[in-house]
Amino acid sequence: MANVLVVAEHQDGKLRKVTLPTITFGEQAAEVVGGEVHVLVLGHGVDAIADEVAKYGNVAKVHYANSAALEKYTAEGFAPVIAQVAEQVDAEIVAAPASAQGTDYLPRVAVALDAGMVTNAIKVWDDGGVRFQRPMLSGSVLETVEVTTPRKIAAVRTTDFDDAKEGDGAPVETVELGESRDDVEFVSMELVKSERPELTDADVVIAGGRGLKSGEAFEMLEEMADLFGGAVGASRAAVDSGYAPTDWQIGQTGKVVAPNLYVAIAISGAIQHLSGMKGSKVIVAINKDAEAPIFQVADYGLVADAFKVVPELNEKLKSMGLGS
Ligand SMILES: Cc1cc2nc3c(=O)[nH]c(=O)nc-3n(C[C@H](O)[C@H](O)[C@H](O)COP(=O)(O)OP(=O)(O)OC[C@H]3O[C@@H](n4cnc5c(N)ncnc54)[C@H](O)[C@@H]3O)c2cc1C
Repeated sequence: MANVLVVAEHQDGKLRKVTLPTITFGEQAAEVVGGEVHVLVLGHGVDAIADEVAKYGNVAKVHYANSAALEKYTAEGFAPVIAQVAEQVDAEIVAAPASAQGTDYLPRVAVALDAGMVTNAIKVWDDGGVRFQRPMLSGSVLETVEVTTPRKIAAVRTTDFDDAKEGDGAPVETVELGESRDDVEFVSMELVKSERPELTDADVVIAGGRGLKSGEAFEMLEEMADLFGGAVGASRAAVDSGYAPTDWQIGQTGKVVAPNLYVAIAISGAIQHLSGMKGSKVIVAINKDAEAPIFQVADYGLVADAFKVVPELNEKLKSMGLGS
């Protein structure tokens, strides 16, 4: 037993980007356990997703669990199938993104496989036993965890891994499924619909803080996000003040993002906020206080009043042809 099973994530017929860094984690984990990477796609009629994911990484096989019972996500429906495939491919490590969905079903997979589990894994290595590193206390402490059970479950903090590159292409094989559970029924899901990309998938995130003083002020951030084709985020203080919806919150108790460009507008840069965005490739901070801690992590800083410079920047971006 020494392979790695990576569970792919998809939504609305599209492969979620968080799958690709999870495959990269899978490749590193496979080196540690000396085995192969297998990828599992669960759903119904999502052949295109299975074919797409097969293009990425150094993957031995893509396993496609195709069933009407898996059309709508439920942790109760997904977990037994993941556990079944983990056993079939002799997976020592089962990995999935530490997303809302991944952290929902993985504990059930752990129970089914009698496996120890680590959340927010940012590193895996062998030190006489399989060890994982995970951040704690807003990233100010890095914990090393050794999982000693024969099978191990990892919820991967995807912002710490690069996307898997396109590879040679893996074969796709349909999974023979047993009886599905009939004691659990999908009733409904209420999703916040947005034309903008999902915050954790976006290449550009424009985030605002309490300094904006109102929900209306976020409109200029939304305009900037739309010019870039990006998403809008917020600090917890902005969310708690009612300026922005909860699902925009970035940080320790919100979402973790690592876009190519993160623009922090009127955000002070508290450690709990930084832990959700400091992995961003380029950070731009706009704050009227030159001493604001956000400037310590920013690649570019603008000490200015957001109400003056954000509309000016939007006009400049439009004149450069963005958004057209
Ligand atoms: C357990 C715990 C978990 C937490 N989790 C999170 C989390 O997930 N995410 C998170 O964000 N926070 C989190 N926090 C809260 C965090 O500690 C901060 O309170 C919060 O991030 C501050 O948000 P802010 O930067 O928007 O507000 P403030 O700290 O009030 O900063 C506002 C900034 O706006 C600037 N400003 C004001 N007016 C203007 C203007 N006109 N133009 C430009 N700049 C201006 C000010 O100079 C200031 O720097 C958590 C706290 C705890 C204790």
